[in-house]
Amino acid sequence: MEPSPFELPADTVQRIASELQCHPADERVALRLDEEDELRHFREHFYIPKMQDLPPIDLSLVNKDENAIYFMGNSLGLQPKMVKTYLEEELDKWAKMGGYGHEVGKRPWITGDETIVGLMNDIVGANEKEIGLMNGLTVNLHLLLLSFFKPTPKRYKILLEAKAFPSDHYAIESQLQLHGLPIEESMRIIKPREGEETLRIEDILEVIDKEGDSIAVILFSGLHFYTGQLFNIPAITKAGQAKGCFVGFDLAHAVGNVELHLHDWGVDFACWCSYKYLNAGAGGLAGAFIHEKHAYTVKPALVGWFGHELSTRFKMDNKLQLIPGVNGFRISNPPILLVCSLHASLEIFRQATMKALRRKSILLTGYLEYMIKHYYSKDKADTRKPIVSIITPSRIEERGCQLTLTFSAPMTYVFQNLEKRGVVCDKREPDGIRVAPVPLYNSFHDVYKFINLLISVLDSAETKE
Ligand SMILES: *Cc1c(COP(=O)(O)O)cnc(C)c1O
Repeated sequence: MEPSPFELPADTVQRIASELQCHPADERVALRLDEEDELRHFREHFYIPKMQDLPPIDLSLVNKDENAIYFMGNSLGLQPKMVKTYLEEELDKWAKMGGYGHEVGKRPWITGDETIVGLMNDIVGANEKEIGLMNGLTVNLHLLLLSFFKPTPKRYKILLEAKAFPSDHYAIESQLQLHGLPIEESMRIIKPREGEETLRIEDILEVIDKEGDSIAVILFSGLHFYTGQLFNIPAITKAGQAKGCFVGFDLAHAVGNVELHLHDWGVDFACWCSYKYLNAGAGGLAGAFIHEKHAYTVKPALVGWFGHELSTRFKMDNKLQLIPGVNGFRISNPPILLVCSLHASLEIFRQATMKALRRKSILLTGYLEYMIKHYYSKDKADTRKPIVSIITPSRIEERGCQLTLTFSAPMTYVFQNLEKRGVVCDKREPDGIRVAPVPLYNSFHDVYKFINLLISVLDSAETKE
């Protein structure tokens, strides 16, 4: 039977189980899901860590030659195999021709970023002129805020979500200080309701409606790093702009994870890093977006020579011809070695497409959710049974790959024992473990194996007590 395009993940799992005449939690379901996965060969484009190479591994509990269960692509994506080749190409060029490398080859260094920026269009939903590849994420956030945050006595606040990523929080604090504004009144933080973990869109829209006249910039994450909540970017953008605010997003956890249409949604500005779902390696070349409607009106506060038009840049006459839009915000010449690793990764995205990746991701994470609920939902009859709760919203439109889990057993015990068994994920204070199956290189069988390891860890936590 053909799956309907609107079939929910849980229904897919049950349909396959009934086709195979087995229980939905049976290993055969995972194997069938992998067989039917048209993206499964993309796993071959990446180095998957082996059990024996993981620092916290306990070799008495695992087969050392097996692949690890890598569920941490939300924090640091795996290495595409082509990275080394691309790095060697530029290192060779440098060795052989020195400075001539600026102008020749596959990636002339002067325009290294420009040679790959087109590969980002589909990922963020923007045209090439709206995207700049430069710096690190927080640096880009600062550069954007310097131009978009122009407080007046009446409109002086920055609106953000509670428990924003520390770097974003500090960036906003320091931008307010730069303008001599009191943090308490100017930093408007929206918190979840009492007893809730995630934000409701109606509460966000209400704050915008009530206080929008005093808000200069709305700066939300696209997808919250801790809870895994995907915010309604178009709704927040529309509501903020109706009140005269600039609306920007930190897409660190959204880019390469969920489909984005920054141009069509009319988002004013955005920034992201490239080492999480984009697999470009630690400290990878970050991105920034400024909508083309601002190309001639919003200018960089800090300018460097790479913001100058290429055609006259090397005349060195010190008469600035600023590139319109985000590319005028580039300050320095692009770091070519970082371009290489990002290039290798973006080529894979180009082949896979965000649309297909998202389709798989919904099923992959849906399968994970199904299995967790199957084994560990609250059971009123059996109060001694361990419980695993999912903080992340269960609605598909409100999440990406990641699920954030909390446990009735001590989190540190669970985390350390998963690590010993070769599950790579991370713990985040106060009590969450984040697991992110990534559609480019994780399989349904990875999820199946994870669940069985979780079962053995939680069983051992029980007997320990
Ligand atoms: C990962 C992440 C960062 C990291 O910032 P860098 O400048 O790349 O070190 C910042 N903000 C958010 C929301 C993140 O998820």
